[in-house]
Amino acid sequence: MEYKTDFLVIGTGIAGLTFALRVADHGRVAIVTKKEAMETSTNYAQGGIASVFGQYDSFDLHIRDTLEAGDGLCNKGVVETVVKSGPERIRELMNWGVAFTQDSTGKLELDLGLEGGHSQKRIVHAGDFTGHAIEQALVDRARIHKQIDIFENRIAVDLITYSTRMKRGLVTAAHEDICCGAYVLDTKTNRVHTFQAKITVLATGGAGKVYLYTSNPDIATGDGIAMAYRAGALVANLEFVQFHPTCLYHPEAKNFLISEAVRGEGGVLIDSRGRAFMADYDPKKDLACRDVVARAIDSELKKTGDDCVFLDITHKEPHFVRDRFPNIYQKCLSFGTDMTREPIPVVPAAHYMCGGVLVDVDGKTDIERLYAVGETACTGLHGANRLASNSLLEAVVYAHRSAQQAVNDLETINAEICRDLPPWDPMGTTDSDEAIVVSHNWDEIRRCMWNYVGIVRSNKRLLRARNRIETIQKEIHEYYWDFKITSDLVELRNIAMVAELIIQSAMLRKESRGLHYNIQYPEKNDKFWLKDTILRRPFVG
Ligand SMILES: Cc1cc2nc3c(=O)[nH]c(=O)nc-3n(C[C@H](O)[C@H](O)[C@H](O)COP(=O)(O)OP(=O)(O)OC[C@H]3O[C@@H](n4cnc5c(N)ncnc54)[C@H](O)[C@@H]3O)c2cc1C
Repeated sequence: MEYKTDFLVIGTGIAGLTFALRVADHGRVAIVTKKEAMETSTNYAQGGIASVFGQYDSFDLHIRDTLEAGDGLCNKGVVETVVKSGPERIRELMNWGVAFTQDSTGKLELDLGLEGGHSQKRIVHAGDFTGHAIEQALVDRARIHKQIDIFENRIAVDLITYSTRMKRGLVTAAHEDICCGAYVLDTKTNRVHTFQAKITVLATGGAGKVYLYTSNPDIATGDGIAMAYRAGALVANLEFVQFHPTCLYHPEAKNFLISEAVRGEGGVLIDSRGRAFMADYDPKKDLACRDVVARAIDSELKKTGDDCVFLDITHKEPHFVRDRFPNIYQKCLSFGTDMTREPIPVVPAAHYMCGGVLVDVDGKTDIERLYAVGETACTGLHGANRLASNSLLEAVVYAHRSAQQAVNDLETINAEICRDLPPWDPMGTTDSDEAIVVSHNWDEIRRCMWNYVGIVRSNKRLLRARNRIETIQKEIHEYYWDFKITSDLVELRNIAMVAELIIQSAMLRKESRGLHYNIQYPEKNDKFWLKDTILRRPFVG
């Protein structure tokens, strides 16, 4: 079956939905999402959105904090644009029905939290379930818009691209230059459909599932990065993976995050003997940037052999803790920890991908008609390390900018080029009777990345990881062509691809900067490495 639309949006997080809502008055929008619409990282974000609303805050301070976190690799122009657009975009979210927590003192309009790396209170939040409040408001709004169709349980498999250069005999072109939509697998019927679009937007979120321990939900398999790379788009800075220092440590908690805001409100990290250790690592102690805190915990765990450290906020009044962190309080309680009386056991986990599909100031990739927004994109805002709560901000600002540009582009698009698209080639025709191969490879990739390409890296570990992933990739390749595709296989192929790209990027960067730390090159090297790590699929002629 073939669907035709003006805008194809892949993903229903804050980035995809904001884009869709902004373009929907100008054309038809099809949004595909691999599970239910609400199942996104956005839905799980707790802390909030960073923006300048405080009495003593200023754009300059927010810009300075972002640049400092980014460790030399932020694009200053992008940082200024995003920071300055923040208040307007947040007001727009409020107009769309997001109920951010109001300031109870009456001095300000909004209550503002403090998080690590921020010099001022500037985290706009809705209790400690900010992401859920945003996601719900956006999904509700998109569902009732007449121009928007949401297709749930549809996983995009690959982009459909076309080469005008090849057509003109320029066979040296290393990549296709126009995107015409995507092939999308209906996970209920296992049939692949063609979605033809004048403009396609990758809003597929992060790639935390590449690692064994992650705060991310299951959808975060880096599909957008893998699809864009396969199509020949540029991807950048994939070595900069942010590990959140504090995920709840409990065998059944899976990926529950203890927000940065707990440290912002006075929470202190202690070891199993009750010693506060952050002063050994950074003058900002528990409010140091995430990478510093994650590395400190990693180092403490290696030194002591303990399974976890603890986050202690018991010195605060119990009613304050319960009111400020209702969600975290309940969740911890359900796993047997009353955070008002005892410290919370925590470990670091893969949390955020700073790199992604390289885009310009309007969210355009270097393939025509293909945009990338949200966590899947690399805009230049985060550089080598993301400042806490800057990602929802980036997603909403870039979705807005991309939408404006896409509406302009729509007028000039010649749809003829994309008219006769080849139907999906079903390749393998038999059902696999060896699902174990897929789940085994999933597990192996995630363990390999955790052990060898984690918080602290070395040349030897990276090489070992590269060899393992190469072998697994070969197996996946054979499997992919022999059997009918399933969503598990699509995701496996993508996490393997993203793992390979993270390793390649980490091997290229011969220094330590921001989130990338290699024991062979422990210092920053501005002379050679004050630049992005950019990759493109090699030309297959
Ligand atoms: C636990 C947690 C807490 C966080 N807290 C904060 C915070 O306080 N502040 C902050 O700024 N950031 C926070 N972040 C990061 C932030 O939530 C994400 O970066 C942001 O929500 C990403 O939004 P997005 O729209 O790009 O992607 P997502 O919200 O992840 O949405 C991705 C969408 O793409 C879909 N998708 C993916 N692949 C495919 C495919 N192949 N086909 C079809 N659909 C696909 C998914 O199903 C989903 O709908 C947090 C993240 C987590 C996990």
